[in-house]
Amino acid sequence: MSASIHGLPSRFGDHDAGELRDFCGHCGQAPDPSSAPVGATRVCQHCDLGLVLQASEAVAPSPEDPFLVVDNRMAICALSSAAEKLLGVDETAAVNRHLGEFLMPADANANGSGSLIELVLGAAAGDGGVERVRVRPLGVFGVRFSARIGRCGPTPSAIVVLER
Ligand SMILES: [Zn+2]
Repeated sequence: MSASIHGLPSRFGDHDAGELRDFCGHCGQAPDPSSAPVGATRVCQHCDLGLVLQASEAVAPSPEDPFLVVDNRMAICALSSAAEKLLGVDETAAVNRHLGEFLMPADANANGSGSLIELVLGAAAGDGGVERVRVRPLGVFGVRFSARIGRCGPTPSAIVVLER
């Protein structure tokens, strides 16, 4: 993978939704601050599996939070270990598949089925702030999550954190 900070929208540095926080795209842990310059692509030292990502303090996950990272084509880029358990899929099997294969809006009649997709695409395109929407895992009834959605970097993308 050759993700780089080139092409990153300058708006990503606005800090309009709080300070940026580094976290691992797989285990969710914060990296050792001395490990590498901020913004460099690097693999997590804790799990050796995830890339270190950035999101605003308002949306960044805590370790053990189930979360997904999605690019501007709605394709999954990363899946946390907690989300693997929650959704019953390995990250390697989920990467590059469409978010809609795993999550759907819980209130299709209330907000329209497009709102989840619109919020994710907006965040991936660099919209500031944090949005919330109710979702449910595809094919599982009676289970609902509140998802918080915000932009994620250094490659422009969106993070969807599931709150139980
Ligand atoms: Zn990790």
